[in-house]
Amino acid sequence: MSDQDSVIEWFIENQRDLPWRKSTPWGVFVSEFMLQQTPVNRVLPKWHEWMERWPSPTHLAAAASSDVIKAWDRLGYPRRALRLHESAQVISQHHGGEVPTTYEALLALPGVGDYTAGAILSFAFGQRAVVLDTNVRRVINRWHVGAEFPTTSLSKAERALAEELIPERSALWAGATMELGALICTSKKPACEECPLRATCAWRCAGYPAGTPMRTQGKWHGSDRQCRGTIMAAIRKGETHIAAISWPDAEQLQRCIVDLEREKLLVASTSHVRLP
Ligand code: SF4
Repeated sequence: MSDQDSVIEWFIENQRDLPWRKSTPWGVFVSEFMLQQTPVNRVLPKWHEWMERWPSPTHLAAAASSDVIKAWDRLGYPRRALRLHESAQVISQHHGGEVPTTYEALLALPGVGDYTAGAILSFAFGQRAVVLDTNVRRVINRWHVGAEFPTTSLSKAERALAEELIPERSALWAGATMELGALICTSKKPACEECPLRATCAWRCAGYPAGTPMRTQGKWHGSDRQCRGTIMAAIRKGETHIAAISWPDAEQLQRCIVDLEREKLLVASTSHVRLP
């Protein structure tokens, strides 16, 4: 059995029961937006809520931006909510309300990059595609390159290697490598004894030489991200007086309000902020 087959068999036995794996292409589309920067356990309830409220691109396309931002709630990085909303409008107007099935058409949608386009092609339509998120990159780098961590940015050589490794059961391979990285080949404590790649893993065979971790996000406390989250949490409840937003650094608060307004996530007057 090839390494790829071993990983796929492991996946068939051990995969988590995630609802978007049994959903429509639109369900996959929504899940990929939500999962971009948010862990599975926080996405799960929100995904169910959204799919019930907006079961197709056409339903979401007809929603008001303010409702979409409110419904995104605390998933973080609310720009994603607006891009998802805009994508739904493009799908509704230009693709007959159906998620497009080609890489080029997907890539042309707001908020869809190379990874998301590949993931949708693979998970929604079973097409052969390179699907390289952080988890998959870590697995491939350890197994094939012998490096503990991938480099900060994806190189052409790494993409070519990933493409070369895709077996015939490509959609299962994409899901399997992602799941292996999430559950077994984790960043800090890989469970190599349970890994179907343990016999051929270059990093393990080399005695686990230490690598350089990918850059992680800076501290949360006092960051612009926290400030933006505080502003968005305040205005999801309704129009808010800026002075009532509890934030210690007035200059940072003002700067974040300007940024959020530029991103169309809020509307600001000299004294108040509200959802668009
Ligand atoms: S053997 Fe260990 S390090 Fe290598 S791919 Fe498997 S879990 Fe990752």
